[in-house]
Amino acid sequence: MIHPSIHRVPVLERASVATSWTGVRPVTLDDHPILGPVPSVRGFILNCGWGGTGIIQGPIAGQLVAEYISKGQTETMDIRPLGMERFKGKSVKEAGDFWERSQAKEMKEGTS
Ligand SMILES: Cc1cc2nc3c(=O)[nH]c(=O)nc-3n(C[C@H](O)[C@H](O)[C@H](O)COP(=O)(O)OP(=O)(O)OC[C@H]3O[C@@H](n4cnc5c(N)ncnc54)[C@H](O)[C@@H]3O)c2cc1C
Repeated sequence: MIHPSIHRVPVLERASVATSWTGVRPVTLDDHPILGPVPSVRGFILNCGWGGTGIIQGPIAGQLVAEYISKGQTETMDIRPLGMERFKGKSVKEAGDFWERSQAKEMKEGTS
């Protein structure tokens, strides 16, 4: 990415790194978010695991959480398939393996 950038904007060759940071893309075992209540903790609702689309999906996620909190269920769409129970019996290792596989696939396809 650096070399094509310098090719287009040659002055970048003399630029230095001013600061850096790390961001986390929270991915789940099936690459879908976790949205819904934690069954064992009353009033605790999860809205996470959006991976690389958490900003763009923010409005609908917020709406669904608001519907769930205010009405006890959602009207816009059924969020039950996104509940955390779907991972029951799965391990952290499986999640890691899934992530490695999807990364390798993305790199091969050049979509990362
Ligand atoms: C490099 C990069 C590029 C991305 N590009 C896009 C994009 O183009 N489009 C898009 O839709 N999504 C993108 N995403 C994904 C998006 O940023 C995330 O899905 C989204 O930010 C998740 O939102 P969130 O509120 O769930 O978590 P976060 O934005 O991670 O917010 C969690 C907050 O909780 C704070 N926190 C953590 N632990 C504690 C604690 N113990 N006590 C108090 N506070 C705590 C953290 O500091 C953080 O501020 C990108 C992510 C990365 C890393």
